[in-house]
Amino acid sequence: MAEFDTDLFVIGGGSGGVRAARIAAGHGARVVIAEEYRMGGTCVIRGCVPKKLMVYASHIRHEIEDAAGFGWTIPSATFDWPTLIANKDKEIARLEAAYTTNVEKAGARIVKSRAVFEDAHTLRLMSGETMTAKYILVATGGAPNHGRTIPGIEHVISSNEVFHLPALPKRILIQGGGYIALEFACIFAGLGSDVTLVYRGDNILRGFDDDVRTHVRTEMEKDGITILTGCTVDRVEKHGEEFTSHLSNGSSVASDKVMFAIGRHPAVANLGLEKAGVAINPHNGGIAVDHFSRTSVPHIYAIGDVTHRFNLTPVAIREGHAFADTVFGKREVRVDHADVPTAVFSQPQVATVGLTEAQAREQFASVDIYKASFRPMKATLSGRDTRVLMKLIVDATSDRVVGCHIVGPDAAEIIQVVGIAVKMKATKADFDATVALHPTSAEELVTMRTPTARYVREAAE
Ligand code: NDP
Repeated sequence: MAEFDTDLFVIGGGSGGVRAARIAAGHGARVVIAEEYRMGGTCVIRGCVPKKLMVYASHIRHEIEDAAGFGWTIPSATFDWPTLIANKDKEIARLEAAYTTNVEKAGARIVKSRAVFEDAHTLRLMSGETMTAKYILVATGGAPNHGRTIPGIEHVISSNEVFHLPALPKRILIQGGGYIALEFACIFAGLGSDVTLVYRGDNILRGFDDDVRTHVRTEMEKDGITILTGCTVDRVEKHGEEFTSHLSNGSSVASDKVMFAIGRHPAVANLGLEKAGVAINPHNGGIAVDHFSRTSVPHIYAIGDVTHRFNLTPVAIREGHAFADTVFGKREVRVDHADVPTAVFSQPQVATVGLTEAQAREQFASVDIYKASFRPMKATLSGRDTRVLMKLIVDATSDRVVGCHIVGPDAAEIIQVVGIAVKMKATKADFDATVALHPTSAEELVTMRTPTARYVREAAE
């Protein structure tokens, strides 16, 4: 009789857990994967996918507005929120079913239950049944974090609820200056809501290149979004169907919905990690792991948002795949977390790979900046008041392009490909040797010839 009930028990049926389960099963392992909610996890059920569908919906307003300059007369258009939500839900249900089928086809068994550690090799399911496993992978993801408790916090929604609102709010206040706050501010603005963004710092998207932050803020403000910086929401009051948010600067904002998008925390609570001896990383609150995603207990691994390293779906998928290859495929694979491209699906989009200007200037003695801000061709006829930003950061000593930052239409699509060049350590000369594709916005990346700034660090005396 086998020593354990299964070779691998995966806790969490999100993108990372599913990839690990499928690859491990493909390597011949007996795999069980437990999911307490819906297969697909945050990305598929209440994250990237439904968000992107809503981004598409909100873009249509711009398309309609832009049409007149191209000769189109469009009778006044109306938008129906319930139709969008119903169609989005249908697509999510289809994807959830596809996830389930693919896992089963790979030979893994799905258990629709929460699973918690009983000891380092034993999991307890909701039914009370226990199961032992030789290896365990924790892929429980994360959850919205509302921060400190403020009066009226019960009136505040998070990105979990925003996908299921019964109606489009006429006015919404969103607190936060990161990915989720910006994406939903732009979604709601596009769909016709009056949007106020409240951010505690001096400018949104902390951690991104400073030019990017300034540029996207200006563009969002041009699109009618009110951005209040240097303040927080301290209290929320409900008056009938309306809310008043009291801000730390003494002012208040009335709205029909209040949403916080102030970060996510790793889902480590009530998993029984202490019974298994799995240590938490004191710096970020996620499960502590090494380069192979191995926890403090050698046969227990953790991947994705629960480790709070890079909270991005493709990173979790990489980590899950690498884990399965390392443990069951007899091939040690280490995930390379350098130069991960990323995008904020705001309007305009922000996309970036590699270092910011500030990071590069700290790391390299001599840095060249190539920057262009221009009116995109489409705007000449549409009349839209908008500009695109393209920025390359070059280590002047090696001529390597170490960072690329774009704010503008299709920035995410462009940066995916620029990411290959940066990963391959392409030089500015390689970019210059590439013939432009005309007329595009992206051609700017291979036609910027003269640095707009050059920073040379003084040699220490
Ligand atoms: P982010 O970490 O991106 O942003 C959190 C924001 O909330 C920051 O502006 C932060 O300010 C602010 N904040 C944090 N704590 C408080 C507080 N107590 N009071 C007021 N403001 C606060 O988190 P998100 O929730 O937007 O998203 C979570 C993660 O999910 C992202 O970091 C990303 O990894 C991932 N994600 C990726 C997407 C994509 O790839 N397109 C889309 C959505 C999410 P400050 O900067 O001052 O700390």
